[in-house]
Amino acid sequence: MQDNIVIQAPAVATQRSTREWQQADSKHFLHPFTDFGSLNKKGSRIITKAEGIYIWDSEGHKILDAMSGLWCVNVGYGQQSLIDAATRQMKELPFYNAFFQTATPPSIELAELLAQVSPPGFEHVFFTGSGSEGNDTIVRMVRRYWDILGQPERHVIISRKNGYHGSTMAGASLGGMSYMHAQGGLPIPGIVHIDQPYWYENGRDMSRADFGKVAAGWLEAKILEVGPEKVAAFIGEPVQGAGGVIVPPETYWPEIQRICDQYGILLVSDEVICGFGRTGHWFGSQTMGSKPDLMTFAKGVTSGYIPLGGVMVGDRVAKVLIEQGGDFNHGFTYSGHPVAAAVAVANIKLIQQLRLVEHVRDNVGPYLAEQFESLRDHPLVGDVDHCGMMAGLLLVKDKAKGTPFPSELEVGMVCRGHCFGNGLIMRAVGDRMIIAPPLVMSRAQIDELMALVRKCLDLTLADANRQGWL
Ligand SMILES: *Cc1c(COP(=O)(O)O)cnc(C)c1O
Repeated sequence: MQDNIVIQAPAVATQRSTREWQQADSKHFLHPFTDFGSLNKKGSRIITKAEGIYIWDSEGHKILDAMSGLWCVNVGYGQQSLIDAATRQMKELPFYNAFFQTATPPSIELAELLAQVSPPGFEHVFFTGSGSEGNDTIVRMVRRYWDILGQPERHVIISRKNGYHGSTMAGASLGGMSYMHAQGGLPIPGIVHIDQPYWYENGRDMSRADFGKVAAGWLEAKILEVGPEKVAAFIGEPVQGAGGVIVPPETYWPEIQRICDQYGILLVSDEVICGFGRTGHWFGSQTMGSKPDLMTFAKGVTSGYIPLGGVMVGDRVAKVLIEQGGDFNHGFTYSGHPVAAAVAVANIKLIQQLRLVEHVRDNVGPYLAEQFESLRDHPLVGDVDHCGMMAGLLLVKDKAKGTPFPSELEVGMVCRGHCFGNGLIMRAVGDRMIIAPPLVMSRAQIDELMALVRKCLDLTLADANRQGWL
């Protein structure tokens, strides 16, 4: 054995052709949330580099990434301070765990910084590797909390249809996606769902404000149905992301808060998308006016540069776990990973330096809202939603009546195809077209984005006219 083995990394073969990448991809790589067979026939789009708010594919196309990767690249691509933080930490200490009564400086510094940017009453954090693992942690932690308090029968968690909380067994169970529940024997026991606060679909015969209270009332009805003594917690995203950027009426969250308080139920805010500035506050619950007991985070905490997630644990729960709990038999190899933590620290400091939260709240958030409102005059647009740097619009067949397109036409996918073809990443959730662009965007870049959005709507309208869909 040599006593000092330093293995040089082999040069990565980045120079293959698109076709070669696609062939190797379809031969070996099973993609998430994908029909493997049909993707293999089409071939993936290979993304090779990124800078600022743009990505490039292997054919050299420049694309405006209005989805921030997957709701995560809040500070945009190519931020040197995050790259440097990872490089430095990898050299210094690439890994050590937090199981053996040990900790690393970056994980401690991150815990401290998270407590600082969180609302008052959040002094503790439990780290995970992803948002899904964060929500698994939530399920175990809230049930443990009630066990410690001598109420083990309080184990039911209420969440919402069309909510998204990740793809592990607990995450997918908390989520309300029926197509996910259809696979793998979900939901797991003790998780029940209420309807989502989607005004356009479920409450257009009322004012938004009235509908918000009605929709929150579904929580109370479910609590009474299950039995208040059996309900542990309610979980929701401040603004539903993957469900289609569904922004609840202003009356919704305060009423949810009132109901949770009345029955003593823990309130959990899944901040995986809304956290770290996206809605114009550090956390979406602040924008929506609720005071959760626990918050799940991931995505924006590192701007997606490296995987990291976790749970902010509010004082009510932390006190019980710490003072009365004994061992909490839960954790992950990468809970508090030093490289991920170092990147998160750099990311949060960058958000602070650039004043990105204020930038969203006072500048680009209101500007994006104004621009999306102006889309209401488009013949295909039935409704628009927006909150900070998230926005959505609904494509409809008949705006006056609000008639949807038949779902088999997949008009959303047609529109998404035009976006891809014209250098814009905008996602389709059914016929809702949604964006969550990087928070660092300027107004001029929003103008550029909106010109592309309008162009793609017009191309979709031309298709609809030509095909007789209207
Ligand atoms: C993405 C997401 C998750 C899951 O996070 P992963 O890191 O993909 O496991 C959970 N909750 C919400 C609201 C999300 O958007």
